[in-house]
Amino acid sequence: KRHEHEAEPLAPRRITRQLNVGGVLVGGGAPVSVQSMTTTRTSDIGATLQQIAELTATGCQIVRVACPTQDDADALKVIAKKSQIPVIADIHFQPKYVFAAIDAGCAAVRVNPGNIKQFDDRVGEIAKAAKDAGTPIRIGVNAGSLDKRLLEKYGKATPEALVESALWEASLFEEHDFRDIKISVKHNDPVVMVNAYRQLSQACDYPLHLGVTEAGPAFQGTIKSAVAFGALLSEGIGDTIRVSLSAPPVEEVKVGNQILESLGLRERGLEIVSCPSCGRAQVDVYTLAEQVTAGLEGLPVPLRVAVMGCVVNGPGEAREADLGVASGNGRGQIFVKGEVIRTVPESQIVETLIEEAVRLAEEMGAE
Ligand code: SF4
Repeated sequence: KRHEHEAEPLAPRRITRQLNVGGVLVGGGAPVSVQSMTTTRTSDIGATLQQIAELTATGCQIVRVACPTQDDADALKVIAKKSQIPVIADIHFQPKYVFAAIDAGCAAVRVNPGNIKQFDDRVGEIAKAAKDAGTPIRIGVNAGSLDKRLLEKYGKATPEALVESALWEASLFEEHDFRDIKISVKHNDPVVMVNAYRQLSQACDYPLHLGVTEAGPAFQGTIKSAVAFGALLSEGIGDTIRVSLSAPPVEEVKVGNQILESLGLRERGLEIVSCPSCGRAQVDVYTLAEQVTAGLEGLPVPLRVAVMGCVVNGPGEAREADLGVASGNGRGQIFVKGEVIRTVPESQIVETLIEEAVRLAEEMGAE
């Protein structure tokens, strides 16, 4: 259900083939899903499952685990079975782990054709195993590991090179009548990445996994990903997303969820509309916004809460929100659904907002 404040969608979603990744539908109009990747040694089953549990609790819908060794491949079976969300095995270099991952019951397998030796010769076998098990494959092309042949042809990882690589690999699977494919063409430069995905979306109807690879530390990576995903998703391109940050993976999931919420592609949870503060502010807006955010975290209903520093835009925004405060003269006017319900001293603003939010949440939950 669309929140009453949410605008019309930016663009119709591009129609893609639909895949079932361990129960999460990807493409074909399914909601855009958020993925992340564990940072533990996959062979450390306990630590990996613990991190998957944390990711699940943060709203991650699909998780990928690296599989660089036989020990990791051996761990996949238990991890795939015990994870609360679908597990994708990430395979580089060694085709034998693709078969191990399929046998282990992974929800999908990501292959990087650019660095799997003799990949082209083994596609038939991979396609057969994947088809028999009903396991989708992600063809994950990366600028940093582009096929040598294409690197020579284009000189560097251009959008055209990334797309040609992905479509070539897809065509090998198609020859074996295998089409349960999703594709990514990642680059660390959002401009190249956006152009690559635009071209790819014109050239095929496979669902697309969006990612800016090696996006950097949290601040830079968040902005690069938000800008690139925003550009593509606002054109209807993209079926599942992974934000790559040099930061703990739960941060990737929070950013991914926030991007989807910002674009109206996912029901908004708690939304704090707080002003940046300025010379007119009559209250410490930063602290107030932080305290309200912390106090309301995890509230299970969409709620827009306005925290405004003065009476210029304050009453207007606070009135538009489900709940809000406009501060002035050491007091806060508390608004609920557009009505001032009371005026409290500054020291009671936070507790009053939290109290009213919980009451509203109960009402909404009871609807
Ligand atoms: Fe400044 Fe008031 Fe606007 Fe906040 S609401 S930015 S304090 S004018």
